[in-house]
Amino acid sequence: MREGGEAAAVLKRLAAGPGRDERLTHVESVPPRPGRTCAWPRWVPAEVLSQLADAGITAPWTHQVATADAAYGGQHVVVATGTASGKSLGYLMPAFATLSIAQAASPHRRIASVLYLSPTKALAHDQLRAISSYTVPGLRATTLDGDSERTERDWARDYATYVLSNPDMLHRSVLPSHQRWARFLSCLQYVVVDECHHYRGVFGAHVAGVLRRLRRICAQYGAHPIFICASATVAEPAVSGERLTGLPMVEVVEDGSPRGGISFGLWEPPLTSLRGENGAPVRRSATAEVADLLTDLVVSGVRTVAFVRSRRGAETVAMTARENLAEVDPGLADLVSAYRAGYLPEERRRLEGMLQSGELTGVAATNALELGIDIAGLDAVLLSGWPGTRASLWQQAGRAGRAGGDALALLVARDDPLDTYLVRHPAAIFGRPVEATVFNPENPYVLGPQLCAAAQELPLTAADYEIFGSTTPAVIAQLVRQGLLRERPHGWFWTRRERAVDAIDIRSAGGKTVQIVEDHTGRLLGTVDGGSAHASVHEGAVYVHAGESYLVKTLDLDGHAAIVEPAAPDYTTFARDVTEISILSTEETCAWGTAELSRGWVQVTSQVVSFQRKLLATGDVLDEQPLDLPERTLRTKAVWWTMPDSDVAGLGLYDVPGAAHAAEHASIGLLPLFATCDRWDIGGVSTARHADTGRLTVFVYDGHPGGAGFAEHGYAAAREWLTATREAIAHCECTDGCPSCVQSPKCGNQNNPLDKSGAVALLTALLSSEA
Ligand SMILES: [Zn+2]
Ligand SMILES: [Zn+2]
Repeated sequence: MREGGEAAAVLKRLAAGPGRDERLTHVESVPPRPGRTCAWPRWVPAEVLSQLADAGITAPWTHQVATADAAYGGQHVVVATGTASGKSLGYLMPAFATLSIAQAASPHRRIASVLYLSPTKALAHDQLRAISSYTVPGLRATTLDGDSERTERDWARDYATYVLSNPDMLHRSVLPSHQRWARFLSCLQYVVVDECHHYRGVFGAHVAGVLRRLRRICAQYGAHPIFICASATVAEPAVSGERLTGLPMVEVVEDGSPRGGISFGLWEPPLTSLRGENGAPVRRSATAEVADLLTDLVVSGVRTVAFVRSRRGAETVAMTARENLAEVDPGLADLVSAYRAGYLPEERRRLEGMLQSGELTGVAATNALELGIDIAGLDAVLLSGWPGTRASLWQQAGRAGRAGGDALALLVARDDPLDTYLVRHPAAIFGRPVEATVFNPENPYVLGPQLCAAAQELPLTAADYEIFGSTTPAVIAQLVRQGLLRERPHGWFWTRRERAVDAIDIRSAGGKTVQIVEDHTGRLLGTVDGGSAHASVHEGAVYVHAGESYLVKTLDLDGHAAIVEPAAPDYTTFARDVTEISILSTEETCAWGTAELSRGWVQVTSQVVSFQRKLLATGDVLDEQPLDLPERTLRTKAVWWTMPDSDVAGLGLYDVPGAAHAAEHASIGLLPLFATCDRWDIGGVSTARHADTGRLTVFVYDGHPGGAGFAEHGYAAAREWLTATREAIAHCECTDGCPSCVQSPKCGNQNNPLDKSGAVALLTALLSSEA
């Protein structure tokens, strides 16, 4: 769609379809932005410049040069610009220049090296392909990951000057055997941390620990590498970058690359005649709606990618669209295909080529491909449900109209409070900067294990307090009490025979991890942390891994394994739990009139008691099955508010517990908008009178041991968060509560009692009081 306004016209046509009144709730016109180039930095050697010119890069964008200049000048830097803005040139310039100059100075001995880290293996491989097209003097690039052969690892360690890896590999393999990597590490000039907005929550905290360990070991070998972080547009990139690396960062946020205009529509599927729990109205599923929209776009010849959460969901969308198209004209069905993460790079490239050439007009892709996908110049992007963050939203929408044309993006709401709120409050999406990444490197449940790993690599001393932060002495003291570290004259030593790193899964939230094993092959698919295993891999659960669906046959709690088999059920599952909470300590409190808002440590006791099965295509509830799982306890952080009896009584509510319960559910639904977490990362408890406060209390707690920073963010943004919560409930078109406002799919009390209007009254009273 080359001409401005054409995308808007297509959007109007979609909305004018039969029975589609009022589904398009908003259209945002994002204006095009012209590109800004500048001169090459003078320090880039001629042989590197000629390589870049051969690759068709004649003049760099301003943000590329700003990034490169900062890094080459010895400053740690984070570049946070849009999708496909060419961030990589920002770090390739200094890397190539340094390697090329080093090669000239020392042709036979490696005196400079670069480490590139990405959150996924696939991305590192894509990057290697891109880099391999350059023949820069001194550039010897290779990937290093769990699939690398021994000879490849040896080559990487002994000869490579540009190693593309991931934090897991650094954590598990490179750092624990750093002596063998001494020559590579001792000449490390740059560490590139790509897609660094992926390092959030507990994963982010662990990666922060791993990078500090890397800095410490490099320093031991006399190297002080410059860190270059690249991120999608996030708020406060320098703050996130500093939290991640522990180093002061310069930020580059002025995007100099050109961008086409986007007509961005928000779309709300209608309520259906179906009735859900407690007779609540059910909205048409986002999957069904996206399949219809994809059909219409393909009929109009609009090249479209639809992003869907699971492979099964993507396949449902593709299949439904093909069926719809076959009804129009049998020849049209082949224009649509599913496109998923499990595909090999060659298969992906083939589909990308077909889309490029017009053999395919529509694809339904899993979100897992958000990173590796390489399709230029699509006309339209459909998003099935809020992708979790504004950063992800723009990353996915940015797949359309790269060539500078006018593009269309459409967010289709799922049936939950956050999606419903967003399609009715466009300012929450478009009127504000993207979110900051949230994680807490000082979480003792993360820092403790990381310090053990560090101590095994090199004994800890007081000099390390500065690297690992102010809570380090207290955490070390605790590790000494637990017998994990021992103090000797030269520092704290790891006392055990086993490797400290083996007890740490940096992608999970503590507790003993549960392995996901494929039944007939014995293949290890992945792990989930012990804390969430009951809810995510209970018997009968649909487990989605990298976009592929599996069915859990058994969960062996003693053996810490879930046995799964590949399956393509037409439903998803939702575990439900019952929870109790007690306050251990209060860290901060403020009064809102007579109400109080607090945050602090809590102990949560919860039990997964059943699960619901819901049809993927319609959202229809099939049934609920009981589960027999033990209770588990969790020490974590929470945010809570309380209101005295006298104030509650003054509101004249007919169902006080139901009002608090409804407010709790909606607060959980809306917190992800403010704290960059997933609805499943957090939980809540509400009661008309809590034993520890003696008042009506609503808690929202962080589902990870020690907390990932979500409760703190909820506390800091409480007024905005609870205001949005009130709006979401008050403006929902249902009468007595539904999944779009106060019903929760994980409620262990079958969404009982719930009082929708009582929740609005309670939140209105809370928010009207002076802070
Ligand atoms: Zn509702
Ligand atoms: Zn509940």
